[in-house]
Amino acid sequence: MIDLSPLAGTRFAVLGLARSGMATARALAKARIDFVAWDDDAARRAAAAAEGLPVADLATLDWSRHDALAMSPGIPHALPAPHPVAAAARAARRPLIGAIELLARVAAPARIAGITGTNGKSTTTALIGHVLGAAGIEREVGGNLGPPVLDFRRLDAEGVYVLELSSFQLELVRSLRCSVSVWLNLTPDHLDRHGDLAGYVAAKRHVFDNQAPGDTAVVCVDDPESAREATRLRAMGREVVTVGVRDREGATIAVDDGVLLDRRDGARVDLKPIRTLPGAHNWQNAAAAYATCRALGMPRDHVAAGLATYPGLAHRQERVATVDGVLYVNDSKATNADAAGKALAAYEPIYWIVG
Ligand code: ADP
Repeated sequence: MIDLSPLAGTRFAVLGLARSGMATARALAKARIDFVAWDDDAARRAAAAAEGLPVADLATLDWSRHDALAMSPGIPHALPAPHPVAAAARAARRPLIGAIELLARVAAPARIAGITGTNGKSTTTALIGHVLGAAGIEREVGGNLGPPVLDFRRLDAEGVYVLELSSFQLELVRSLRCSVSVWLNLTPDHLDRHGDLAGYVAAKRHVFDNQAPGDTAVVCVDDPESAREATRLRAMGREVVTVGVRDREGATIAVDDGVLLDRRDGARVDLKPIRTLPGAHNWQNAAAAYATCRALGMPRDHVAAGLATYPGLAHRQERVATVDGVLYVNDSKATNADAAGKALAAYEPIYWIVG
């Protein structure tokens, strides 16, 4: 568990007691930090109270006695309508933060690699975690996927927290500073929460907040919005490594027909033999992971060796069925049982490899 005791003196309210909220409440309690917690669901409140965690109705909270609202990223705080507790905290000028922010405040001296984008976050996060681990580098992997970040082990200066960061989580950070920030791609998503594309982009951009000299932004430039982001960051004087799979011209790292070329040193990695990373979308993820691990200081041979042994995420790239000589592969978050139950041709995330 992450030790939050450096935050002593800050009084928190915690809203949302699902997995991540419970981890937050437990970490605050362990550090003997002053807080009260709430969930609109009575069963979750009861579970927290049964563990001895302090539960109190935040609707009637005196905000003059609390400094910040640590809330679940799943709870709306602006659009389509703010949760009343979030609205009250905001009216009292208290920051709305999440578990990622709490980790960010105490993460040093370990480094953080933060991964965002509309698609490929889980794959790229798991891949970076795998490559680091294969080279014997201490790391903890989670965030939007995997374990709650406050359940992580404490890492020292050699270690890396590898965080999958959704736009909802990125709206609730302030101190996050990623040694390497990864932006995979951007297409409209979650507009009910962000209002419009600009709101979604603004949320995602927090992954680059607080980056300092020596830090790196890895930006995949295959879609226009992401290419604009790379240009914007360069204009700010940031260190940007661009990755191009479809739009390779000028990219620092280009992937041409599955072969990764790092134009900085001429290194080449053939991604095609990696069975767990099929298809151009996975080449984007692999190249972003390559750029990230290089930026973290790993030798290129170690990165290439790590990519080659990636086991894949559960339920991805799993064989579903062979129909008329075509092997159907499930690359979605659904389980094979779910996927096989649907009409193969109509099931979008399943693509096929002629076998
Ligand atoms: P996320 O965590 O962002 O939802 P995942 O790695 O879980 O991303 O992949 C989710 C789906 O998106 C998968 O079905 C996969 O086929 C597709 N996908 C993965 N990576 C990419 C990418 N780089 N670009 C576009 N689609 C992708």
